[in-house]
Amino acid sequence: MQDNRYRILVIRLSSLGDIILTTPVLDALKENYGNSEISLLTKQKYQGLFESDPRISSVIYFEPEDKDKGVFGLFRLIKSLNQEKFDLIVDLHSNLRSFFIRLLVKAERKVHHYKKLIPRFLMVRFKRWGVNPVSTIDNYLKSLGEIGIKAWSRIPRLYSKNENKIWAENFFIENGLGKKEILIGIAPGARWETKRWGLDKFSSVAKNLSQDLPVKILLVGDKDDLKPIEGIENYVGKERTIQAVDLPLDRLIALVKRCGLFISNDSGLMHLASSLGVPTIGIFGPTSPGLGFSPSGLKDKVFWAGVDCSPCSLHGEKECVKESRYCMDNIKPEKIIEEAKRVLSANKVIFLDRDGTITEEKDFVSKIEEIKFIPGSKEALKTLQGFGYKLVIVSNQSGIARGIMTGEQVEEVNDFILKELQNEGIKIEGIYYCPHHPDENCDCRKPRTGLIKRALQDHHLKLKGAWMIGDKLSDVLLGKNIKGKSILVLTGYGQGVKQRIESNLEIYDWQKPDYIAKDLLEAASFIKSEALTESTEPVTNSHKKL
Ligand SMILES: [Zn+2]
Repeated sequence: MQDNRYRILVIRLSSLGDIILTTPVLDALKENYGNSEISLLTKQKYQGLFESDPRISSVIYFEPEDKDKGVFGLFRLIKSLNQEKFDLIVDLHSNLRSFFIRLLVKAERKVHHYKKLIPRFLMVRFKRWGVNPVSTIDNYLKSLGEIGIKAWSRIPRLYSKNENKIWAENFFIENGLGKKEILIGIAPGARWETKRWGLDKFSSVAKNLSQDLPVKILLVGDKDDLKPIEGIENYVGKERTIQAVDLPLDRLIALVKRCGLFISNDSGLMHLASSLGVPTIGIFGPTSPGLGFSPSGLKDKVFWAGVDCSPCSLHGEKECVKESRYCMDNIKPEKIIEEAKRVLSANKVIFLDRDGTITEEKDFVSKIEEIKFIPGSKEALKTLQGFGYKLVIVSNQSGIARGIMTGEQVEEVNDFILKELQNEGIKIEGIYYCPHHPDENCDCRKPRTGLIKRALQDHHLKLKGAWMIGDKLSDVLLGKNIKGKSILVLTGYGQGVKQRIESNLEIYDWQKPDYIAKDLLEAASFIKSEALTESTEPVTNSHKKL
């Protein structure tokens, strides 16, 4: 039965952050090889990350420092991998060990990623000499370019089983976290001492935030981080903190997902929080975000003092040579507190598609005479606005690049729509559109996130808990790309998308909308009912509402 499947081996043995950053590669592979089966080669300690990942068929564990030590361990592994008869090997680890695996395991095609050692070396050696290595995610995806694979998403994604969500809910009840309380995750650890921001600084951030706001602090780390975690707990008080120490990764995912904000040193946990759609503040000292390891979320923020000696090493492994750790000490708690409060005060938002969702679908609308509002859509927008949501329209208008209409015509149509809605008392924060042709591969054509990025620059919006409503698969996928929830409406092209979903035509489970609504009006009442049943910061949806 397995014979007609395209069998792929992905190799990434460590570390936590790097493994999380490889997940867009899994999406791209699944997307391009419809009938594929992906095996992942990694270490046992990352087991929890992939236990319920629908993209992975099997995880193969390899412990070169332990039971699979030495040449014999390596050859045993190669022998067993050869029995799997892979068609493609994607080596994202690219060290000597993975080189041998790649060399000796048979497969029709093999690709690996280039580590960008030279630009990174230059950056560490000569600091900011205009050297700007590509982000690690783009670098991983680039290796797929060699075999003609284009990625629709460069966003890391992690999955957690429903039983972990239930476990997390109980965990929070036992630890006295109120439904309306804000949870802020703090991870004070890091692999190297030099990468750890001061305990006093984390403590003062935690205390300040939990005094001024209805906040509890989730202290996250492993056994080695127990000292700073207990330090913060003692300073802030047990009643305002919850310890999450040395938990299996799948459970940790379920806990961190509940956070409204995560504050962390440059570590694997920073990437974990970010990939769960939690707005993340990353604190960088001896390493530099310019080395390609910034957190990837649109609302994430990096603090880096940018002192002359940083970055002094690639991973922060070098001891500090200065008398004082300028790179870390120059980052003041006040700045982090200010940013944290800014993030937490952002407005909740609903992103909406235009044609086929709010107004009747008609290919390439260029005149205001062609605009007809879908019955009930104005009422729907009013309902959502009344529920405290900011409304933003995001629209692909490739007719401009195709020469069918001009940018001015699109603006005119948009202005007309804004005015019509304004007359009904509906305020749209902005209409953002992509004028490019699909072949241009721009950053703003949905499902890419460029339009959302622009909206975030112009308005104070909260991505966590955001919704995206539209009639096309690209709208649904955009919702996934911003880690929000998505609703497919059956107006416009929606019926066709629904049929594709039902017949499972090239649409995978994780690409499906969270809800399918007859039209915008029904979508609005669904959001309203969800908002009424959930707490302010829900332990997010099960994605199984179909
Ligand atoms: Zn564009």
